[in-house]
Amino acid sequence: MRVNGKLWNTRLISNRIATGLPLAFAGILAAVPLACPTRAPEPSVRRTESERSRIRDARADDRRVEPSQPDVPPSLPDATQVASPTPYSRAALPILDIHTHVDPTATRTVLSLFDARGIHTAVNLSAGFEGAGLEEALAQQRESRGRILPFCTLPWRATGHPQFVTESVRILERCRALGVRGLKIPKVLGLGARDIDGSRLRVDAPRLDPIFAAAERLGMMVLIHTGDPKAFFQPPNPQNERWEELQAHPSWSFYGAEWPSFDEILGEFERRVLRHRRLVFVGAHFGNAAEEPDRVARLLERAPRYHIDTSARVPEFGRHPSARMRAFFTRWQDRILFGTDLGLGDDMGEWMLGSHGNERTTQRDVDRYFSATFRYYEANDPEWENPTPIQGRWNTHPIALPRDILAKVYGANAARLLGITWPPPTQ
Ligand SMILES: [Zn+2]
Repeated sequence: MRVNGKLWNTRLISNRIATGLPLAFAGILAAVPLACPTRAPEPSVRRTESERSRIRDARADDRRVEPSQPDVPPSLPDATQVASPTPYSRAALPILDIHTHVDPTATRTVLSLFDARGIHTAVNLSAGFEGAGLEEALAQQRESRGRILPFCTLPWRATGHPQFVTESVRILERCRALGVRGLKIPKVLGLGARDIDGSRLRVDAPRLDPIFAAAERLGMMVLIHTGDPKAFFQPPNPQNERWEELQAHPSWSFYGAEWPSFDEILGEFERRVLRHRRLVFVGAHFGNAAEEPDRVARLLERAPRYHIDTSARVPEFGRHPSARMRAFFTRWQDRILFGTDLGLGDDMGEWMLGSHGNERTTQRDVDRYFSATFRYYEANDPEWENPTPIQGRWNTHPIALPRDILAKVYGANAARLLGITWPPPTQ
């Protein structure tokens, strides 16, 4: 993750040494290359050149984040985002966004965007863990009066260490003691994380079971991203429907013998969910299978505490006909959580709107992103541009959800899982 790259790693190690973590484990954390999966922007604090270069290194190791352009001056969001005149620029009902990545030092900028767009509460999935960023995320939770909530992560770089699981359980217990309600598991599990013997650590590896058992015991929900769009597992060439995105980010391709197939990894994910029936799971990105709503529905049928989020997949599930998706949302109206996958800091040019190319994000991109997103859920248009064109130059088919279903998907379902009063009293 951009925020906590090697800087957080270094702090983590010194913290762990100070708190008595076995040196060998700390050594592994130092030695294993970063494979951070999330995309919170770099904090806007002043950094030395060597710190900046370490962050750039960390970004280069991150499958989802390209090196930044340090010479480009930051662009501040302009006033039109506060008083945007475009239709559907603000959600019709208050939103609880279950899937964001937020710079803990950019609270004011982020809240002004949220206020302009009707997002009341958001979960920051890039919050790290104690000694590795969680303190800053908890400070942001206080500063935002509970509007930006952290979920913890685990040291996924260290999965090859024999003590990874016991240490992860301890980290989770500390997270819960500090008031955190959920754990985010990134796609590096299944696509990069290594087992003790160096083989690929599978999403359903029995060795990891104690982590999920601990989450269940502690009453924490687990939001899990497995795999990626199907197209990323297919040959990266001009025939690939996500060619534009793969050209901007060649490292997002998982095509080839060294990678598992989409079906293999999705099968591992499904077995993991079915193994822990009392645990509240959230399958990120439309259950990690926006291309196949019927497959998503089968898992929802079999696992009663399983939920899905909608983040970064309106362009994908929005391709299906309106009637089909309206029926899906109607049937699963209590199990779908609104998410964006926004990556937000003080520099709008670096904002992540579900995905991004190599160009800096503009106000126009931001306006289009929100109006196309809200339009998908709320409008009756036969078709409309999708919120994130780099994910595919096709239109979506808006589904005009009835207000009671919209209220659940936009916020009430997630609020129920998180124990938050909803709708929020200030709305
Ligand atoms: Zn994300």
